[in-house]
This record gives sequence, structure tokens and C-alpha cells, in this order.
Amino acid sequence: MAGALGFAGISETFGKNFTNAIDAHPKLSAPSDLKITDVKCGYIGGSLFVKIYSDQDIYGCGEGVDAIRGTYHMVMGMGRFLKGQSPFAIHKIFEQMRRAGHFGGAQSGMYVAVLSAIETALWDLTGKALGLPVYQLLGGKFRDRIRVYCDTALYRVQFPSPEDFASAATEAIKNWGFNALKFDLDYVSDPDKYDRYNWTASPGEISRMYNQLAAVREAVGPKIDLCVDMHGRYDFPTAQAIAKKVEPLNLTWLEEPVPAENVDAYRRIADETNTPISAGENIYLAYGFRRLLEIGGVDIVMPDLQKCGGLGEGQRIANLANLYYVPFSPHMVASFLGAMACAHVCVTVPNFHLMEWQSYFHTNPMYKEIVTYDEEDWVKDSFIKVSEKPGIGVDINEEAMKKYATPGVPLFE
Ligand SMILES: [Mg+2]
Repeated sequence: MAGALGFAGISETFGKNFTNAIDAHPKLSAPSDLKITDVKCGYIGGSLFVKIYSDQDIYGCGEGVDAIRGTYHMVMGMGRFLKGQSPFAIHKIFEQMRRAGHFGGAQSGMYVAVLSAIETALWDLTGKALGLPVYQLLGGKFRDRIRVYCDTALYRVQFPSPEDFASAATEAIKNWGFNALKFDLDYVSDPDKYDRYNWTASPGEISRMYNQLAAVREAVGPKIDLCVDMHGRYDFPTAQAIAKKVEPLNLTWLEEPVPAENVDAYRRIADETNTPISAGENIYLAYGFRRLLEIGGVDIVMPDLQKCGGLGEGQRIANLANLYYVPFSPHMVASFLGAMACAHVCVTVPNFHLMEWQSYFHTNPMYKEIVTYDEEDWVKDSFIKVSEKPGIGVDINEEAMKKYATPGVPLFE
């Protein structure tokens, strides 16, 4: 090991003055002097990743989903607004940016999804500057870990049989240890579908849906949470019929049986069935949830925190729902950065119920590569533990993202 010893000998003096100079230079100013210097973004899969840089050695990371394509110039515009500001007044910055877009679509869609990514990065940056995990900045935690349900992603199968449903359920329980699962019921490939464009399910479709879910319930027994999504692709009579028919299967919820725009329709469906009705992934800001909750339109709210306005807005929605004794079960289709950001909110509200978890974390290696996290187990026995590190606790891995980048699409340039 002569080489190693030789290196040790040289390193005692080599570059010492340079090291001393770096050590003598104050790397960090007081937290109160922290200033934002730049904002950059990248797009991988269905996510927008944002990094907010500062004049200290720290940056904040955030993620937006779904309504993010074509938003590069929107991110850059919000970035110009942020430069030179302290990141600490997160609620104020959020409100300033939201109000600034009042006539430019800041009520929903892409504007709010971008705002969600930026707001999340501000929490991460603030947490790192103050040495505190985000949940602490949000008021502290009710619990250390949160229960997640696994989206089985059976939608990738062209037209799954009841047996496919049952085996996807038992595999997710056996291989990954989940005790809560979600399945989709909307299949345009159903041969019993009479019309691709109307939203009425035929008797054959309704019977197929029931048989798929009954096969799962039969396979997993009564103790597993069984969540079901219809993606807002059906009409009122279909929603009524399905919600009634599946009552004996004791679902944890029936999600978006009709599109989420008409809250009065939701109230009627929820009133007429014992099956809990849920919606929220296509609703934006706390304003969007107000009337839905006020009239009892849903039994469970499920905002997507990478889309509905970010972590502060997610907490506001949860607290609003809590006034109506409605559980908070956030939708989550992000990377593990977004999942952990969401977890920080979930531990801070009393009415947290279940958070969505994706099977792609187990089946697509990209998800383990594009972020860094210092614990081996991301999920264990259907729970994820909230990070105790400053900020969110999960970092973006830009090098790994390059492998999955789409040519011509910005990646932290
Ligand atoms: Mg859904």
C-alpha cells in the first residue's frame, strides 16, 4: 500500500494554505441574510423538478406533476420574481405569486402546479437553512410514519381479468408488504362498452367491475384496505349503480366516480350510498375544496400536493377537511422527492388517513436513481417514515436524471 501511504504523507502539507483560506472564509451568513440567487428546472417522466439556489451552500428542491408540460417559461418567470428575496416568508411569497397570476390562470392547472413545485422548494431551502425538517416548520408532527396504499398499476394490462386483479393484490401484499391497495375500474377496452364517448357503463361493464373487485376482496380477506378509482370517466347513473353494487365489498373508497367539477352531483352520490366517495386530485387550492366540503360532496379528500398548491396549501386543505370530520388521503404520483414532501404534511395534520404510493418505485429502477436518500427502506409494512434531516430529506440526483432526459427538454440548464 505504498501509494496510499505516499498520498497520506503528501496530504499533510499539500494544499494546506488553500484549505486554511477556505476555512477562514465565512461560507454561511446568518440565516436571516439568506437570499435566493437562481431558479432552475428539469423535466423527467411526468414531473417538473425545481431547484432554488441561494447565496449560501444550500439549495431547495421541489416537484410538480401532471399539469407541468410546457411550463418552462412559467418557472423562469417565477424565478425572476424570487431572485434576491429571502426564502423564509413562504406563505407571503406564495400569496404574492398566486395573486400576480390572478388574470393569468392562477386559479388552477399549470400555474398552480408550477407554484406547487416552487413553494415546496422554498420549504426545503428554509429547512436546510435553519437545520429543521419541513414537518417541524409546518408545526410539528402527530406521528412518525404514515400509512400508504399501493396503486397496483394494473391499468398497464390491456384488459385484466378478475384473476389478474386477485393476483396483483396478493403479489403486492406478499412481495412488498402492503395492507392497502388501489385498483382502477375504467377500461376503454371492455368489449361490453357500447360507446367509447358516452359515460354510461353497460350492464356487462358494471358486472365486470363488480367481479374484478369481488375477486380481490375474496383473495385478500376483510382486513386489507381496498381503494377503487374510476378516474371521472362515468356518468351519474353509472356512479350510483356502482357505488350501490359494491357496498357489500366494504371499499375504503370509490374515487372520482364522475368528473370532479360538479360538486352537487357528488353530494347526491355520497348521500345515496354507504360506499365512501372520494375526489380531489383534479381540484386546485383550498378554494377548490371549500364548497365540496361544505355540502358534504365527499367522504374523503385527496388533493395532490405536487399540483394543488404545495405543502402549505395541502396543510390548509387538510385542516379545512378536518372541520367537516373528513379524512385527508393525498393523491401522489411523484418521485420519492414528492412522496417525502407530501409525508412531511401528512404527519402534521390530525385527519391524515392514507397516502398514495406507486408500484413503479419497486418496478422501475429510474425512481431509485433520480433522487438520493440515505435510508435503504423507502417503505416498510405499508408505512413510510418521515425524514428527520433538514428540509425534505431527499435530494435530486442531476447526474442520474441526465440518463432519462428527453432531448430538447430543459434539465437544470
Ligand atoms: Mg385518481
